[in-house]
Amino acid sequence: AKEGGRNTYQFFRKEMRGRNTKLQDKEEQLLEALARQQFVLFYQAQINLESGAITGVEALIRWRHPERGLLLPESFIQDAEDCGAIVAIGRWVLLEACNQAQAWLDEGLIFNMMAVNVSAHQFANNDFLENVQSVLQQSGWTPNRLELELNESVLLKNIASATITLHALRSIGVKIAIDDFGTGCSSMIYLKQLAVDTMKIDRSFVHDISSSEDDILVRAIIGIGKGFRHRIIAEGVETAEQLAILRDIDCSTAQGYYLNRPMIAEEFADFLKAGV
Ligand code: C2E
Ligand code: CA
Ligand code: CA
Ligand code: CA
Repeated sequence: AKEGGRNTYQFFRKEMRGRNTKLQDKEEQLLEALARQQFVLFYQAQINLESGAITGVEALIRWRHPERGLLLPESFIQDAEDCGAIVAIGRWVLLEACNQAQAWLDEGLIFNMMAVNVSAHQFANNDFLENVQSVLQQSGWTPNRLELELNESVLLKNIASATITLHALRSIGVKIAIDDFGTGCSSMIYLKQLAVDTMKIDRSFVHDISSSEDDILVRAIIGIGKGFRHRIIAEGVETAEQLAILRDIDCSTAQGYYLNRPMIAEEFADFLKAGV
């Protein structure tokens, strides 16, 4: 009878929650996954194309789902964003990435930047700046070796408040990258206004670089980036040919499966030890 009573209660609770039930369920699941430490970071190197050195490391979240196996961000990040769980998850990502970076540094492993993806919701949150500062303090990681990756649409959603947050981040030394550069239908004027350090050329441009006029676009993007003295990273390099063209057009840094795949921390440490 007790059991039945609880089911009845849950039934009504769900009914009352109505249309948002699905999102609230997602939120519960995601926060539970966080509490149960089911999220894990993979790491992918950013390689300097001249020296071959590992200049940076991008942290990429995965979910070790007890039933569904290893899930990529495409299957849960949007939900996390929609229900708001991304704020808590994003905090965990930031701390985990900075702790890991500091641990590798303490082991004497050589790389410069730890790059962490930040979502719209997280960036707009009032506590974001405070959170970044507290993570830096807790982990001991140097601010100017943390790069936050934000995509164009996040930066342009509210350019006035984004500008304020970016300047505050810059004043504590943290670096900013524009992720997926070129994919938003945005005016280039904002480039002048926003305090960013790095432009990541979206992999859609890199993909077609050898077979179409996309190398004209990539050349132009690199030219603009250099004009602004931004660091430039080409994303999604999958072939030797793409790499050769990027080198040829003086792209300084690249990331992609051809260079290395995202790896778990232990594997990445070995990769760093091998020095490429
Ligand atoms: P992104 O920031 O553009 O990350 C690059 C994505 O491209 C990663 O996918 C990476 O594994 C993949 N990639 C790397 N090299 C290649 C390549 O040569 N070819 C192809 N086709 N793909 C390549 P992943 O890890 O599935 O992440 C997808 C997106 O999820 C990321 O895109 C980012 O927007 C988001 N994301 C990942 N981790 C986090 C996180 O911790 N927080 C937030 N808010 N978003 C994250
Ligand atoms: Ca990214
Ligand atoms: Ca990207
Ligand atoms: Ca992206």
